[in-house]
Amino acid sequence: MERIDLASLNLEELTEKLREISEKSGVKIEKFRSAQIYGWLTRGVYSFEEMLNVPKNIKAVLDEYCFITLPRVEKKLVSKIDGTVKYLFRLHDGEFIESVFMRYEHGNTLCVSTQVGCRMGCSFCASTLTGLTRNLTPSEILGQVVAAQKDMGEKVSNIVMMGIGEPLDNYDNVMKFLELVNDEKGLNIGHRHISLSTCGLCDKIRQLADEKKQITLSLSLHASDAETRRKLMPVARKYDLDELISSCRYYIEKTGRRISFEYAMIAGENDTHAHAERLGNLLSGMICHVNLIPLNDVKERNYTKSSKKAIDDFVKILEKKHITATVRRRLGSDINASCGQLRAENEKK
Ligand code: SF4
Repeated sequence: MERIDLASLNLEELTEKLREISEKSGVKIEKFRSAQIYGWLTRGVYSFEEMLNVPKNIKAVLDEYCFITLPRVEKKLVSKIDGTVKYLFRLHDGEFIESVFMRYEHGNTLCVSTQVGCRMGCSFCASTLTGLTRNLTPSEILGQVVAAQKDMGEKVSNIVMMGIGEPLDNYDNVMKFLELVNDEKGLNIGHRHISLSTCGLCDKIRQLADEKKQITLSLSLHASDAETRRKLMPVARKYDLDELISSCRYYIEKTGRRISFEYAMIAGENDTHAHAERLGNLLSGMICHVNLIPLNDVKERNYTKSSKKAIDDFVKILEKKHITATVRRRLGSDINASCGQLRAENEKK
């Protein structure tokens, strides 16, 4: 029997697994034990030894049939400018992922990873340089929140899935994570406080729309014409821009939620007046918001961020077309807070 990843289960599934283990091992595990164990996990106790009200013989069986692990802090960088904290976490199999803890007026936000590496190949992103190693399990996504809260001694109230990986490429585990993190007996973080960022897997966007969750969808658009998008993001060779915009309209129609379009401003690549005009036309009539992101320079690629003037002009053109746009504050600019850079440096070593 493969050892069970306990923290990836909801209470009902955990109860069923403990029943099976009890049958198999011959050790009596009463039904109320599952609520006790689930309670420890949701309070961030990820060691059977520390589960004080669980008898020794049950702990021994749990140790034999199950496992629980929390991502370990391998490296922690704290921004001197704004206090943003970037974590490099080591997973139980020696792989590394990143999370970023940010303080905003509306509460603490954690940016989590959903995969080890990424196979989407976006040309401005360091997370994809060595491809996809594996998907994260629900407990490994949740574990980043638990570990960051423990380390910071502060509660995380918002989550953005914008770290390493494409969340919709790990669909089932991400859906399970959304269920677990929302559990009122657990971290109890409402879906309205969670954003999921995708590079644009159209079929999965439609599937997500049908789930009618109240999360915010962030669409990494980064271009307003098919050719530029294909150059920047290989995913655009599979799903063209029209198909993408149509799946976004479907998402809004099904969920009633506004979409955030993410647009990394890259000097000379996608930041001209013509690009802004086209973007305004493309999003016309959609309930949406555009986040312009001055790109953190990616050493491994030859991209630099747009000038302030180019960004200001871009915003003005969008506003004329009645599209609201804001320029994202660059938190943690002194600690390489761009996704994947810390992991890439660690891999090189
Ligand atoms: S931007 Fe996101 S989807 Fe694109 S390669 Fe990076 S992690 Fe993957």
